[in-house]
Amino acid sequence: MAAAITPAGTSTSSMASASDIPSVDRVLNLAQIKPLLAQYGRTQLTGALRRHLDQLRADALAGKLVLADVDDSQLAAILEKQLAAANRLHLRALFNLTGTVLHTNLGRSLLPDEAVQAVVSALTTPGNLEFDLDSGGRGDRDDLVEDVLCELTGAEAATVVNNNAAAVLLMLNTLAQKKEVIVSRGELIEIGGAFRIPDIMQRAGAKLVEVGTTNRTHPADYANAITARSAMLMKVHCSNYAISGFTRSVAVDTLAQLARPHGIPVTVDLGSGTLLDLAQWGLPSETTVRQTIQQGADLVTFSGDKLLGGPQAGLIVGHADLIRRIKKNPLKRALRVGKLTLAALEPVLRLYLAPEFLSERLPALRLLTRPQLAIRNQAERLLPILQNVLESHYTVTAEAMFSQIGSGALPIDQLPSYGLALRAGNAANGGKHHGRALDKLEKALRQLPRPVIGRIGNDALWLDCRCLEEHDEALFSAQLRAIVL
Ligand SMILES: *Cc1c(COP(=O)(O)O)cnc(C)c1O
Repeated sequence: MAAAITPAGTSTSSMASASDIPSVDRVLNLAQIKPLLAQYGRTQLTGALRRHLDQLRADALAGKLVLADVDDSQLAAILEKQLAAANRLHLRALFNLTGTVLHTNLGRSLLPDEAVQAVVSALTTPGNLEFDLDSGGRGDRDDLVEDVLCELTGAEAATVVNNNAAAVLLMLNTLAQKKEVIVSRGELIEIGGAFRIPDIMQRAGAKLVEVGTTNRTHPADYANAITARSAMLMKVHCSNYAISGFTRSVAVDTLAQLARPHGIPVTVDLGSGTLLDLAQWGLPSETTVRQTIQQGADLVTFSGDKLLGGPQAGLIVGHADLIRRIKKNPLKRALRVGKLTLAALEPVLRLYLAPEFLSERLPALRLLTRPQLAIRNQAERLLPILQNVLESHYTVTAEAMFSQIGSGALPIDQLPSYGLALRAGNAANGGKHHGRALDKLEKALRQLPRPVIGRIGNDALWLDCRCLEEHDEALFSAQLRAIVL
């Protein structure tokens, strides 16, 4: 506003004084304010108005208030903007163009419509969460998903908790408190967000017995460590790293043979835990939960929102007697899932009963299997729109790139993808300048009404189009015009 920076006294006609500032009551009675009162209520509106009028008064005393600032419509517009900003929810929708499909910081799996409908129903109507409709007696919330989990994994019984970290904690605390758990040194992993096997073991009250070396562990290492204090042999999926070269680890079936004579269980933290072999969709193969059970694991734990494609949850499947003990642990009550999780989980699990439709109906799998050509065509459609908005400040090219599955699933496997590479425009400028220009662009994209998140690397801002589904494309391109550089 040009008038606002005019030094006091140079255009006296447009300057305002404290006496020009309206009273709270007068503003509250303005016609332009009525819709704001109706939307935000008197309490919030009066608060915002008082703060704004105080600011105007301070500006007037400093001699930098212009008449336009106290105009009725101007006041209403400012209040509307402030209230809208203050009432915007902290958890916001965004575009994940990072290329990491199951991005933990961006909420991992997206859920199918079936799950959305079930959650809406659970939110708005009473349901049989812990009520047995046949007997009229009390039910167990795990019963809602136990049968389908058993059908999909071949396990005898199942239980559900808040996430896989909770599943591991609960399993260890139930079966190994004050006892020893034997784990290979090659599997003592840390997952992002401070989940470390040795720490969780300690919190569960179990004593970790490390065997083998980082790269090689042999059956005899486990066999020699088994004592009367042993509670279980445990295997942990390496998830976010891979050991290659001169390596050896012991398979579940061998562990089962070692454990059986001692009457102790073999447990496996599978991490992602796939329910079906992903190779049938051209994705890298992972041992499934069913195969792990078949190989002799007594209990398997895995996440609901990694490759499974459901809500955040920790699933424990295995022998009925072990699951029964786990359910009786008072910690189960502290770690249990809410009805929204169960409402979302059941329809997701049921989608697996019709695998022929899975890559179409389950968003996680749909995104992971999206054909590179479709992604490329989309990137090429978006290219001219983005180049037009960014003018000569940046150059935009459509390029092949690689996406990752994310959430520690198959870390070394990459999926051929396509997207946009944005580079600072003026090639004559130095690298430092380019870095700043890219940071500025990255920030501008984050400040869009629906923030766009990419990744910076090799002097470019990369927008991987894999997770921009076609039904979102129009919204994506429409808001690009709002980029403020
Ligand atoms: C991801 C992962 C966990 C933690 O699972 P959350 O569902 O995120 O709590 C535990 N163990 C392994 C092996 C994992 O990959």
